[in-house]
Amino acid sequence: IYILAIESSCDDTSAAVLHNTKMLSNVVATQKIHEEYGGVVPELASRAHQQNIVPVVHQALAKANINKKDLSAIAFTRGPGLMGSLLVGTSFAKSLALGLNIPLIEVNHMQAHILAHFIDNESGKKPTFPFIGMTISGGHTQIVLVKSYFDMEILGQTLDDAVGEAFDKSAKILGLPYPGGPLIDKYAQLGNPKAFPFPKSKVGELNFSFSGFKTSVLYFIQRETQKNPNFITENLNDICASIQYTIIRVLLDKLKKAVAQTGVNQIAIGGGVSANSGIRKVLQEAEQKHGWKTFIPPFEFCTDNAAMIGIVGYLKYKEELFATQEITAKARYVINE
Ligand code: ATP
Ligand code: FE
Repeated sequence: IYILAIESSCDDTSAAVLHNTKMLSNVVATQKIHEEYGGVVPELASRAHQQNIVPVVHQALAKANINKKDLSAIAFTRGPGLMGSLLVGTSFAKSLALGLNIPLIEVNHMQAHILAHFIDNESGKKPTFPFIGMTISGGHTQIVLVKSYFDMEILGQTLDDAVGEAFDKSAKILGLPYPGGPLIDKYAQLGNPKAFPFPKSKVGELNFSFSGFKTSVLYFIQRETQKNPNFITENLNDICASIQYTIIRVLLDKLKKAVAQTGVNQIAIGGGVSANSGIRKVLQEAEQKHGWKTFIPPFEFCTDNAAMIGIVGYLKYKEELFATQEITAKARYVINE
């Protein structure tokens, strides 16, 4: 089975070709334009998708060395995401499926972040059901119990900002360029994580809240720079290490709770924040410390990419879960809907 997959939910235009569970190509055009604005501008994102989609699809086919006549189906991200962005991928996928007269498969982006673990990778490791999936990205923070490929139960999620936003907004307060998450990670590795204690949010159960954390970082920095205008430059590594430490503690606490509540100790993470070196380290340590089995996908499958849409396409193809030409994009699309 050959699946062509298209992802356009946010600010990355991506196309991938999969042969069953093997990725043959995964092309991502990242939109640089948003950096100037310090965040994604929806109107600019949809225009860039419009420009990128045809070349990106051509590249994905060429890299996979596949003729479009050999494709079995077209899979696309139906949601959740920015409506203008989703419309580009959805319309393109529908047209192509119609033109080639092959099945169309709609994919929930949040399911895809989790099912990305089923793309073949070098480690050869794949989780078995049931497992706990945690998606941590610039737009989402969610813990789900994955009972089977298409049976997922949300255990908890953020009530306000996503983890990636907590990183990016903290970085912005420190005067670092967007997106600041990777820079916080870089400086954190050189600093003392216990230098400056920040409060952990106390929202209940398995939910998250990061907006209070961001405010505490802001007030702390304002207070200290009033006393010493060079506070940030003199303490950048320690500040970053402390911010990162606090965020990771929150994530780890919630995972521990999820394990206690469900009795499931396989943890699979996904989303761009999974690139964070501190999170990777803590999860690897948890294998020995708590007897967990942890799964961290290759970075290429963590951030938004079409290969993860392709694996869902393949899994749905086998079940003949096809969409009709009447399908429309869905900006709000719950993982278990
Ligand atoms: P979505 O929420 O739909 O996945 P997105 O584009 O916002 O969309 P991703 O591309 O998955 O999310 O991830 C981007 C986020 O990951 C940004 O917030 C970025 O700062 C963060 N990020 C990337 N690398 C790191 C890192 N090493 N440490 C911390 N955060 C990181
Ligand atoms: Fe995503």
